[in-house]
Amino acid sequence: MVYLDNNATTPLDPAVAEKMCEFLKEHFGNPSSLYPIGREVKEMINGARESVARALGASKAEIYFTGSGTEADNHAIFGVLDAFPEKREFVTSTIEHPAVEETAVYLEKKGYRVSYVPVDRYGVVDLDFLRDAVTPQTALVSIMHANNEIGTIEPVSEIVRIAKDKGAYVHTDSVQTFGKLDFGVEDLGVDLLSVSSHKIYGPKGVGALYVRKGTPLLPFLHGGHQERGMRAGTENTIGIIGFGEAARILPEKFKTDKPRIERLAARLQKGIEERIPKVRLNGHPERRVKSTLNYSFLGLEAEAVLLALATKEIYVSTGSACSAESEEVSHVLTAIGLKPEIARSTVRMSLGRFTTDADIDIALKELPDIIDKLRKISAFNPEED
Ligand code: PLP
Repeated sequence: MVYLDNNATTPLDPAVAEKMCEFLKEHFGNPSSLYPIGREVKEMINGARESVARALGASKAEIYFTGSGTEADNHAIFGVLDAFPEKREFVTSTIEHPAVEETAVYLEKKGYRVSYVPVDRYGVVDLDFLRDAVTPQTALVSIMHANNEIGTIEPVSEIVRIAKDKGAYVHTDSVQTFGKLDFGVEDLGVDLLSVSSHKIYGPKGVGALYVRKGTPLLPFLHGGHQERGMRAGTENTIGIIGFGEAARILPEKFKTDKPRIERLAARLQKGIEERIPKVRLNGHPERRVKSTLNYSFLGLEAEAVLLALATKEIYVSTGSACSAESEEVSHVLTAIGLKPEIARSTVRMSLGRFTTDADIDIALKELPDIIDKLRKISAFNPEED
């Protein structure tokens, strides 16, 4: 198998799997229980919190575990807006992950004024538009750190400067940058930041929200006093332990992962561009998470490319957040100005810790052939298009 869909999810790191197995066999206590088998689990959760905090350059007290990256995004948005009932404006971008995008649509239905900051053809947000969109009535600005489909990195610290000038708080969705870019919360200056375990070789169904000390935030789930009253519900202990281990080993792994993955991505990019005519790389050429390669193969349907690659056990995604059955094209590709037929020809390849040179060899052997055959069937003539 050649797995080139690491932005969708990453395989569990063997060290994480081992830690989780050990935990499962030996610990079942409820972390809220006051006797030793509960307390030791609570201590382990706090150890995991420390690891996530360290990997983000935050303090332990600023990290809250959640049920997913999606929940972290929702908590950040509702938690801050609920803390400022008199402020009825929310600012986001046109290229957010559905976890933020759909939350914004819901807020509109609830009567909030939502501004969607547009992006240029590379997917970079328009800072002048942002400057006008943020008003003293804006409680929160939420703009992602890097886009999951095209990899473009947003100018988050400039966004923070603009928002702070008007007294707004800032959240960023770092689900696609945690473990891929070298940053800490202080470099960005944001008040809130979301991450997800299954994008950093940890288990699925667990995430975390960073909340800068002093940021007004109300709880999202109501009930027990878990997560210091911020997130009711018995903790996903096994998930948190796995996430903690994935975060603990992250800084060390990052040192070798990043240059290696970038070298492999550059090889794949060069190979595609040399061997396949009429392709277009989407996203910013430089300010991009380099492990993400989003290509439009002009004249083709992305699903056909995906399925043909899958028969060779090469797994990619259609670069669209929409379901395979949907005729709709990705809002991100639309936002960067792609025509629907070009958006529909778009495939996302994303590399990760376990991608090898052999994987790239196989992809570069199969892909040009598949594209060529599909184009012949679709009577695509690159000279005419
Ligand atoms: N935000 C971004 C940018 C993502 O890419 C994803 C997952 O694909 C999420 C949020 C949602 O994270 P989770 O799958 O943990 O809910």
